[in-house]
Amino acid sequence: MQKRLLQWYEKNGRHELPWRNITDIYPVYLSEIMLQQTQVNRVRDEYYPQFLAKFPTLKSLADAQESEVLAAWSGLGYYSRARNLHKTAKLCKNELPKSYEELLKLPGIGSYTASAICVFGYHQNLPVLDTNIKRVIKRLFALIDPSEKELTRQAAKVLNNKEPRAHNLALMDLGSLVCLPKNPKCQECPLVSECQGREEPELYTQTQKRRYKAMDLFYGVCISDGKIALIESDGNMYKGMLTLPKIDPIEDAYITSFKHAYTKYRLTVKLYRCEEAPQEAVWIAPYALHNAPLSSLIKKAIANLPSNYL
Ligand code: SF4
Repeated sequence: MQKRLLQWYEKNGRHELPWRNITDIYPVYLSEIMLQQTQVNRVRDEYYPQFLAKFPTLKSLADAQESEVLAAWSGLGYYSRARNLHKTAKLCKNELPKSYEELLKLPGIGSYTASAICVFGYHQNLPVLDTNIKRVIKRLFALIDPSEKELTRQAAKVLNNKEPRAHNLALMDLGSLVCLPKNPKCQECPLVSECQGREEPELYTQTQKRRYKAMDLFYGVCISDGKIALIESDGNMYKGMLTLPKIDPIEDAYITSFKHAYTKYRLTVKLYRCEEAPQEAVWIAPYALHNAPLSSLIKKAIANLPSNYL
């Protein structure tokens, strides 16, 4: 089964992903953090190359200001990932630890990321359990709602100890390309003869229906001398980022509105003209906006302003 899996991977795997063809640990770590909540294509085509061009080594990241790191992360969301990446770089400077237990002690590194670094970076013998691999393992062993411990135990049972890196990557790609959440392509699967869940694969896939929450947000847009007023975000999630000031809606100062989806929220964002900016506002010129630490929502709000408004 291991041999068939590797043969399938050799022929069909996503070998073109840039973080798969390197021996340096830092890009592996960076890609894993970026991929936690962002689609592969966006990471591969946009954020990963840009971030790496700006901070090519762990040390260059450690030496940067947090605002620079957040600016490079702008648009990726879940900004605690960027803050933790920066903290970890400062703690480790030149090299990440090699042990799973030591990695777990670092900010923002949980069990999945620690095992991914150990396996994809340091070629250690461990099972890696991302969403795709979990789905394959659940179906392969017909496990309904297993605990993490049980999944790890079963994944370890089929682990290829001679080629743990290729084995885990192969399972990951199998989950992503063949063992799909809905309508898996079992006829193309190299594990079909061993798979205990192939008769009813969807029985082993947790499909939790997401409940969305509608919410309205009102922002004030204050322009002076061709610059826009932004303030520092409050709360932990967006700490260090800049935002438009929230205001109560003013009917005759309405500019525009747009829809924005963010995790479980479905937002209607309305923008209003503001004559006075908050005292603590910083004034940013349009040419400097691409270097400012802004969330996708705030970038979208600025992009939605009528042309020549700013
Ligand atoms: S046989 Fe089907 S259900 Fe089983 S691992 Fe392969 S694709 Fe998934």
